[in-house]
Amino acid sequence: MNELRQLALDLRKQNQEFQVLHSQVAQQVADRFYEARQRFFEGLANKPKKKKPHQYLSLVYPQSGWKLSNWREVGQGKNKKKKARLYLSKIGFFTLIVHRVFPLEQVCRVCVKLNPSGRIHVIFSVEEPEVEEQPSKEPVKAVGVDLGITRLATLSDGRYLENPKPLERSLERIRLLQRRLSRKKFLSNNWLKAKRKLAKQYEHVKNLRRDLFFKLGVLLSQKYDVLVLEDLNVQGLIQKGVTRTRRMRLYDSSFSELRRCLEWVFLKRGKTVLAVSAYNTSRECFLCGGINQSLTLEDRIFHCPHCGFTFDRDLNASLVLLKRAGWEPPAAPVELRPLPPLPSLGLKKRSQGGALKQEAPPFMAG
Ligand SMILES: [Zn+2]
Repeated sequence: MNELRQLALDLRKQNQEFQVLHSQVAQQVADRFYEARQRFFEGLANKPKKKKPHQYLSLVYPQSGWKLSNWREVGQGKNKKKKARLYLSKIGFFTLIVHRVFPLEQVCRVCVKLNPSGRIHVIFSVEEPEVEEQPSKEPVKAVGVDLGITRLATLSDGRYLENPKPLERSLERIRLLQRRLSRKKFLSNNWLKAKRKLAKQYEHVKNLRRDLFFKLGVLLSQKYDVLVLEDLNVQGLIQKGVTRTRRMRLYDSSFSELRRCLEWVFLKRGKTVLAVSAYNTSRECFLCGGINQSLTLEDRIFHCPHCGFTFDRDLNASLVLLKRAGWEPPAAPVELRPLPPLPSLGLKKRSQGGALKQEAPPFMAG
């Protein structure tokens, strides 16, 4: 790592145009390559690729080289915003809209990220002392979550979340924009314009998704202490869908994102996330543990050949997950019903979070 860092510094010294970079930022580029290489050797990632200048979209200031000043509040009522002025060494001044309150003296690094849509995010990482976990006195409640394509998430309490409509509509628009882009001359002005539009739409979809995922996480963490998820072998999933690799990847990326969001919300609140083996979850009967070998991907209903039990496929899978994590299956079968619509998805106006509190009676486990 030291050699790489020195190399980065030497290159910076030799090239006039690299000197617009703060020296620590140049060093951090070497760190990033070192980490990517390390991840490759540990078998966690593919070989690091050569990045073209227009693909390199973020700068990291590990310690110094930046300064925040001129904090102020602008706007009134709903439009109230906090603004600040950010100085980046050798680059200049920027005006920020500050979305979070954070202790300025504890910031350990600053990342400036340019999205392909043209938006710039500045991320301040803050070091916090670790909080010791409080042992809970109440009985621990657990929920199993099965992720799927037709139904985004099915909870073991019978509630489920459909793939929302605004998301589907946005995906249609992405297809349209992609077609338009492919008709433009590569790297022409019109091509760049179309590219920007497409990137904006992608960002919109990403925002819709994350918004939904975090809300689902909050909804679950209000009721449950333990979240049980499938331990998905991402590589395996991609390889299985050879003919539809692209499609699988698309779905898959949002699966891992959903998992990450749910895990984050739970861990942030000091709750537990359990990953259990995903092997045969949809083929196992949650009542008797028998395996239905003939179940195909198209079957929406699970029928157990051993005990004659018939149930919704995803709901059965989520109950199997819960069982694998060590919870007793409920005595009476739970009813399948949709989640109340999570607020603000695809809507301009934000509700006051009232709908999040509305919940159906939970299924007690354990
Ligand atoms: Zn059975």
